[in-house]
Amino acid sequence: AAMFDSLSRSIEKAQRLIGKSGTLTAENMKEPLKEVRRALLEADVSLPVVRRFIKKVEERALGTKVLEGVTPDVQFIKTVSNELIDLMGGGTGAKDLEPGFPQIILMAGLQGVGKTTAAGKLALYLKKAKKSCLLVATDVYRPAAIDQLVKLGAAIDVPVFEMGTDVSPVEIAKRGVEEARRLGVDAVIVDTAGRLQVDEDMMAELRDVKAAVRPSDTLLVVDAMTGQEAANLVRAFNQAVDISGAILTKMDGDSRGGAALSVREVSGKPIKFVGVGEKMEALEPFYPERMASRILG
Ligand code: GDP
Repeated sequence: AAMFDSLSRSIEKAQRLIGKSGTLTAENMKEPLKEVRRALLEADVSLPVVRRFIKKVEERALGTKVLEGVTPDVQFIKTVSNELIDLMGGGTGAKDLEPGFPQIILMAGLQGVGKTTAAGKLALYLKKAKKSCLLVATDVYRPAAIDQLVKLGAAIDVPVFEMGTDVSPVEIAKRGVEEARRLGVDAVIVDTAGRLQVDEDMMAELRDVKAAVRPSDTLLVVDAMTGQEAANLVRAFNQAVDISGAILTKMDGDSRGGAALSVREVSGKPIKFVGVGEKMEALEPFYPERMASRILG
């Protein structure tokens, strides 16, 4: 993908600038770090995130004892790579859903980001892990959204609980979870209404739904194309409903992917899954290490 092309190019340039002799110093890292900074900004990573990242790379590069035989250019890229992994919450592989019985997963996010699709994908993902599932449709503002979930459920053979558009989202969510307990399913996924922008009514409703069903996971669905705004978006949702993680969608597209670097930095919460296509199968656990090596090319 086009994503991060410029970062891998600028890393190469940075390595050439540093060369293979001597050690890393504040002085010889100055231009190379500017290259990385420019590439991150081009990839739509927000400025404060970029600033903190560059500072950490510099600190770590200067503070790490270099092993014998490791040239400074290699040391530099290794440091950038480690910081990228850290930034995305690395260390222990992909982050799973929180345990619970039933597992209650609340989906949050703006309209059009792929939230309903992600709900269906998660249901299929759980089904493949031999967990039974119930989907709950609470977007009472858009009948089309309820229909969409019903169709997705039918396609993957997962039941969908809905009460039309005349009942409040809180009531539907509560009844949905009761139904899940009655059916004895392992997991219930509550899809919610999104808006085109962050909006106080949407947040209030999400808070109410969350308080009513006490989910094990509250997942923010973020479109990878969001760009710089991703940082503000993640912050707003996290402050309002204390998310447990994120799903980054449309990673198969031509996005610059900067959102991948903002989620953890801004919220302290991990990206748990990535959406890589429109099909129900197109959901993958998120591995910071893999993402970092993909970014660095
Ligand atoms: P919602 O309004 O957030 O519920 O968004 P939808 O689930 O209806 O998705 C909006 C559009 O994005 C639909 O056309 C989906 O097929 C598409 N979509 C969702 N996830 C992905 C993805 O990971 N990759 C691609 N290429 N398209 C996606």
